[in-house]
Amino acid sequence: MTTKPAIKFPINTTVRFTVAYLRNTGQFMGRAGHDRWQVVDCQCSLCALGGFVAVNETAYRYGDEGPDASPWRHIAEGNLQAVKGTVRS
Ligand SMILES: [Zn+2]
Repeated sequence: MTTKPAIKFPINTTVRFTVAYLRNTGQFMGRAGHDRWQVVDCQCSLCALGGFVAVNETAYRYGDEGPDASPWRHIAEGNLQAVKGTVRS
């Protein structure tokens, strides 16, 4: 077992999908290649586990989330890289 990794992306860091991820998922030429998010503070169980980053996009709801479910979209941190600049809002 490995210990919980250090927080890779501090709150408010602007992030995007890595080029490798976009290529692997066939989204390199698509809209996802332009998406930028800002890392938000999230205390949900997924974030406590580590490996995922909560970003400032409302999560898609399936309807069976628990009451403590995070309102934010979560992305595997290995698929993200930090970028300079800020998200246009
Ligand atoms: Zn979370």
